[in-house]
Amino acid sequence: MAGTLYVVATPIGNLEDITFRAVRVLQEADLIASEDTRHTRILLTRYEINTPLTSYHKFNIRAKTGELVGQLQAGKNIALVSDAGTPGVSDPGYQMIRESVDRGIKVEVIPGPSAAIAALVGSGLPTDEFTFVGFLPRKPGRKRRKLEQLKNEGRTIIIYESPFRVVKTLEDVHLVFGEVEVAVCRELTKKFEEFIRGNIEEVIVKLKNKKVRGEIVLVVSAQAAQRESIS
Ligand code: SAM
Repeated sequence: MAGTLYVVATPIGNLEDITFRAVRVLQEADLIASEDTRHTRILLTRYEINTPLTSYHKFNIRAKTGELVGQLQAGKNIALVSDAGTPGVSDPGYQMIRESVDRGIKVEVIPGPSAAIAALVGSGLPTDEFTFVGFLPRKPGRKRRKLEQLKNEGRTIIIYESPFRVVKTLEDVHLVFGEVEVAVCRELTKKFEEFIRGNIEEVIVKLKNKKVRGEIVLVVSAQAAQRESIS
């Protein structure tokens, strides 16, 4: 009988943010496939988990997907984890899950943290409808076109961003969307967690006056006109 692929969410910073079920599944699996084995080892050590680890990241995804699916078909249970958060959300995972689904392998999700949802609910911006876009394209033209597309969404938008590009991205958003409210959600669940909330112009000024570090999720409200038409 084929094994099960367990898609296991892990902490996005604070190691206490893991479920009892996730710890048990990681302990009981035959193998853990991890985006960053060094990072995952810290978590495994904390919870005294001795399951063998193998790497599964964007550079070996093609070769490794087939190999892991082969092991699942041979009856092994594999736990898939990413660097942090929920595997498949802007990190390797989708391909493994898709391939398993296509081959009739059982996929179970062990839900838990994801930076996108933590940022959305902490942003103070409307949560009733939202769009997650992951990382915006790097190339200026493509980035601008993507923002133009998003402009009429009428929903709160969640963007993953690097600390080095966040000010530029806020300026681009300001140019395309005009006056909107934003929240820059930094280092969530970690010691220096911070939410910088407010009008986009104010937030840009605040960020320009400091060195931005750490991991960031940018949450952008729908345009004012769109918001009014919703309420
Ligand atoms: N799969 C992950 C999840 O479910 O959140 C996301 C992986 S994606 C490769 C990494 C990005 O998520 C970072 O660049 C950052 O934008 C965001 N992120 C991850 N951890 C974060 C944290 N603790 N605080 C703020 N943003 C975070």
